[in-house]
This record gives sequence, C-alpha cells and structure tokens, in this order.
Amino acid sequence: MKNPSDEQKFRDDFPRKGQTRGEVIKAMIMVQNKPYFCPNCRSNRVKFSVISSTSQRFMKDAVTGEILSVEEPQTIQEPEATVQCQVCHFIGNEMRFIKQAEREPRTAMSQPSMQPAR
Ligand SMILES: [Zn+2]
Repeated sequence: MKNPSDEQKFRDDFPRKGQTRGEVIKAMIMVQNKPYFCPNCRSNRVKFSVISSTSQRFMKDAVTGEILSVEEPQTIQEPEATVQCQVCHFIGNEMRFIKQAEREPRTAMSQPSMQPAR
C-alpha cells in the first residue's frame, strides 16, 4: 500500500552561514578602465598584454648550488602597469597608452540601434 499523499517536506531553505570563500583570487595587476591606443603603431586599441614582475624566494645549498626550497612567487606591486601592444610588441607605461587614446579618441562609428520600444 503506497500512499501518494505521503510526501516528505524537506526544508533545505535554511541559510547556509559561514560559507568560506576557499580561494581569494587576486587581480593580478591593476590596469585602468580607460581606453588604450598604442603610441607606436597607432593601429591597436584592443589587444594588449600587461607585463608584471614577480619575486620568488628560494634557498640554495651553499656548496652544491642545489635549490633547497622555493616559495610562492609574489607579484611586485608597481605604481603603474607596464603594457605591451600585441600588434607591434611595443612596451611602455600604461599612461602612454592612455594618453595616446586621449589624444586620438576613437569615435563611435557605428552604434547599435537603440530605438526605444513603444
Ligand atoms: Zn603597437
């Protein structure tokens, strides 16, 4: 004999407190949310790399030169990001790319049709 009305009410809507964010993902480098324009080739506004330096501590054996221990690499915080143009591979301070974009701003040529729906 099965009773179909015998449904179990499961309350799983209790708030899950104390959820730990296992990993804190750090933004690698601080780059500004501003347009770039490569001052060298003047054809690239979209494809860039950000160049960062890391520091990684390690210990060596004084006699054999063997690496004994290695620590996690740490990103060296720099006041200004170093940016590379992916087209001409020019490397310069982020400011140079931003300044160039301010000098020669990209005009919005084609805007998506934003007609209000009535
Ligand atoms: Zn370039």
